[in-house]
Amino acid sequence: MITGDQEKVRKINRSLVLNTLRLHAPVSRAQVANFTGLTRGTVSNIVNVLIEDGLVFEDKLEDSKIGRPSILLGLRPDGGAVVGVEVGVDFISVLLTNFVAETLWEVRVETSPSQSQTEIINQAEKYIDQALSIAKEQELRPLGIGVGLPGLVNTRQGNLIVAPNLHWTNVPLRLIWNQRFHLPVYIENEANLAALGEYYFGVARNVDNFICLTSGIGLGGGIMIDGRLFRGGHGYGGEIGHIQRDPQGEQCGCGRIGCWETQVGPRAVLQRVKKEFQTHHDQSLLDACSGDLNNLTFEIVVQFASNGDAICRKAIEEVAVNLGVGIADLVNIFNPNLVIIGGAFISAKDIMQSIIEKTIFSNALQPSTDNLQIKFSERNTEACVLGAVAVVLDDILREMVIS
Ligand SMILES: [Zn+2]
Repeated sequence: MITGDQEKVRKINRSLVLNTLRLHAPVSRAQVANFTGLTRGTVSNIVNVLIEDGLVFEDKLEDSKIGRPSILLGLRPDGGAVVGVEVGVDFISVLLTNFVAETLWEVRVETSPSQSQTEIINQAEKYIDQALSIAKEQELRPLGIGVGLPGLVNTRQGNLIVAPNLHWTNVPLRLIWNQRFHLPVYIENEANLAALGEYYFGVARNVDNFICLTSGIGLGGGIMIDGRLFRGGHGYGGEIGHIQRDPQGEQCGCGRIGCWETQVGPRAVLQRVKKEFQTHHDQSLLDACSGDLNNLTFEIVVQFASNGDAICRKAIEEVAVNLGVGIADLVNIFNPNLVIIGGAFISAKDIMQSIIEKTIFSNALQPSTDNLQIKFSERNTEACVLGAVAVVLDDILREMVIS
């Protein structure tokens, strides 16, 4: 008889083998045993089951390390299909990949603030249906649906608690889509998924301790500790954008005053430009906004700053300093090896990076900054939806219990 503990050990060992193949394939059974610390007999048993399940292939290949043919193992691209979904404040993005996360199909459409919650969910369902029918055509079994949302998410229950910028509260999306699609559904905060996307596919590959900041309408943070996403007791952890930094400051979208995201988001850059404009008229900037500063966008500011416009450059530089000061605090608390800056700020990398680095290194405690790297995401908008794919794979490959 197999006890619950034995079953758990078996699942963990299976995940260890799968994750080793993800990271190191093609490898032999003996190499898998070395990487995992499992016995060769245990590895062989697990591999045989994985081959039967259609998740792993074996092939007689030249092993460059030993210089002669050997039976090597890898993950099968056709081991299954994964659907990643991001419901953003003003868009829906859906991505279909195979078992090794190669893109098979994707779509990204804008949504309008006038659309109701039901309309947006129905629209997302239509694209998920489309993705699943493509998987079916290619004879790939669907393994699950990962979903990123811009708000507080209870990952254990699969509920969106509140998404202030979408004006959604208490949406049991996992239940809704479990019933609709009859597949495992993983609901996560978008910033956590962006971190997971960077860990699997981006600049944080193989970095186990890092912080990923994503700047959009708000400022989100995903924190990876020892290769696991930090979620806190109920999954609400990591809301670093709402650390209060200025009690006399601006009102935040969360209703409180002076949150960090009011100082460092793209909106803060626009406010600084508009304020400075009152004392320093800038006709070319006004022309770029069709004569009305309400049309000013972060993209225009970055473009003008890059061309040497003093007002725009100063606004971005000041925000970069505020970002660096806050990150220095996070470095003191978490001692990460890497801080990733993603989202809207990627387009301002050339202006911001050196200022952010300088501010962090002069504000954080010195031992914490030894070996610290600051990188901008190379994924731009797709980091979160890739993370939505990763959260499904992560559960299969690493036995991360989130449900
Ligand atoms: Zn706030």
